[in-house]
Amino acid sequence: MPGLLARLGDRLARMLRGAPVPALDPGGATDADVEMMRRALRLAESAAEQDEVPVGAVVYRTATGEVLAEAFNRREIDNDPAAHAELLAMRAAAQAIGDWRLSECTVVVTLEPCPMCAGLIVNARVGRLVFGASDPKAGAVVTLYRLCSDPRLNHRIEAIGGVLAEESAGLLRSFFRNKRGRSP
Ligand SMILES: [Zn+2]
Repeated sequence: MPGLLARLGDRLARMLRGAPVPALDPGGATDADVEMMRRALRLAESAAEQDEVPVGAVVYRTATGEVLAEAFNRREIDNDPAAHAELLAMRAAAQAIGDWRLSECTVVVTLEPCPMCAGLIVNARVGRLVFGASDPKAGAVVTLYRLCSDPRLNHRIEAIGGVLAEESAGLLRSFFRNKRGRSP
């Protein structure tokens, strides 16, 4: 039994060493990432104006900075539990380039992706992920799960978090504050 535990511990240590840990240091973001995050924040504001939780996303071609798709959260408008901003933007980007593989792309989203969206990021073989605020309730990149860097999955993504995080968190806070204020 001690031998088995030692082997398991060894394996775990190797797995952990092999896994790139997503940096929460927004210093890794490029100028293009920050510019795209500003764009995503404007989309999040549009979402709030339509009574949607303010989350926005942009997918751009990493090499050229060309915007392929953008979206905001549309769960209420579409009555669709899957209509998260980054999911919609990834699907539109895949249509735009005629390829479901988004390995040449960077996904920029104002809030840390949930398990569904982080799963899609892995399945779409996204090249890079840049997100704003962390999500203590659903974050699946660094907070609750680490789906984008799990060595057991077949694809790992370079992830940078915390980019303009305060702006993103501020939008979410004021949205929910207004909502509470309006409820009877
Ligand atoms: Zn999501």
